[in-house]
Amino acid sequence: MSDLAMFGGPPVIPSPLAPYESLGKKEQDALIAVVESGSLSGFYGSPGDEFFGGAQVQAFEAAWCERFGVNHTISVNSNTSGLLAALGAIGLCPGDEVIIPPTTMSATAITPLFWGGIPVFADIEEETFCIDPSKVLSEITERTKAIVAVNLFGHPARLGELRKIADDHGLFLIEDNAQAPLGYEDGIPCGTIGDIGVFSLNYHKHIHTGEGGMCTTNDKTLAQRMALIRNHGENVHEWLGIDNPANVIGLNLRQTEMGAAVGLVQLEDIDLHVTRREKIAEGLSATVSDMSGITPPIVRENCRHNYYCWVMKINSREVGVSRDIFSKALEAEGFPNTPAYLAPLYLLPVFQKRMAIGMSGWPFTSAHRTYEKGLCPVAERLHEEEIIFFEPCAWAVDDETLEQLQQAFVKVFENRRDLSNAPS
Ligand SMILES: *Cc1c(COP(=O)(O)O)cnc(C)c1O
Repeated sequence: MSDLAMFGGPPVIPSPLAPYESLGKKEQDALIAVVESGSLSGFYGSPGDEFFGGAQVQAFEAAWCERFGVNHTISVNSNTSGLLAALGAIGLCPGDEVIIPPTTMSATAITPLFWGGIPVFADIEEETFCIDPSKVLSEITERTKAIVAVNLFGHPARLGELRKIADDHGLFLIEDNAQAPLGYEDGIPCGTIGDIGVFSLNYHKHIHTGEGGMCTTNDKTLAQRMALIRNHGENVHEWLGIDNPANVIGLNLRQTEMGAAVGLVQLEDIDLHVTRREKIAEGLSATVSDMSGITPPIVRENCRHNYYCWVMKINSREVGVSRDIFSKALEAEGFPNTPAYLAPLYLLPVFQKRMAIGMSGWPFTSAHRTYEKGLCPVAERLHEEEIIFFEPCAWAVDDETLEQLQQAFVKVFENRRDLSNAPS
């Protein structure tokens, strides 16, 4: 018997990894300055300059425009809020269909429901785990209003192809770019190919403001409509001379001056935060690349993967061990990982019971769509059998720790034959 930690041997990494901490003195100073200014939020939900937020919010939005090369950025208090504002801004109507991937965080699939929209799931690609354009094409009907592509784990979806499909069919393309700041396809930044790109600044992402989100667009009307949905738009649409009040029933989705001040500082260091994650992921990929039955994350040609998550696939027949046992053996060596990401979202009770708003099943009552198991076979198989998931953004991994992670992987792989006796 080998000395795998799973069987009582010494683990390669004896103590848990430290959590990654991206905040420092600069963030602290920025926060103190906001507190000293006496204004923790500069927003008013009524006509006037303050409708668009305080000094920090406006400066943060301007810096974001500059960095991502877009004309407009609307900051919000989360990516979820950003998706809600984006879908409202495009004029999503009850019964309209929105095509989305099943493998993503739940907000992508849930936000259309607030406007009465019907989520339609199109399966993902085997290699990149992002939405498959050919599957999108076969789901388009006369009810389709938009495609929401997710640049999952930090790798761009096939954005150029999706842009063309959207244009050919008169659809909006929204990018849920929560996970892929600085990712790109053919040199074009993720989040700027869709009509609207939505970024997350929650605590788990590459850079953060505690909670927060950014919506980018080059379309002035969409930007204005998102600003209205963000901040009690019903009070100002007359003042702004807007003649289309559809979905301008404003919420309060506003970012604070504190969040924006931290965001400004974090944005200055975004290259540092992202390249460090890339280095960790590339190190792991190099280690597993000649192991037969293990497939590291793929990076398509002319694309940048920013490795919000490092996600590999295991072929359990080839390796001779189930995904779940392999994952447990890694965990026992001190390599934090999860077998699988989130289950395909149509398996959530909201879709299985077709009940979202109220008790009568609205908005599903207006739709012929159903959500049975088997709907997206690729997403289901990857989830159930193949994916192992590690979060470079969650852990402080210096060069020494990276080496230990690599050694842990090698140890488990080399002793894989012993794992066939492991209790499941
Ligand atoms: C994190 C995440 C969200 C939600 O972001 P919040 O800012 O927490 O609302 C949405 N979509 C994806 C793909 C995410 O990773």
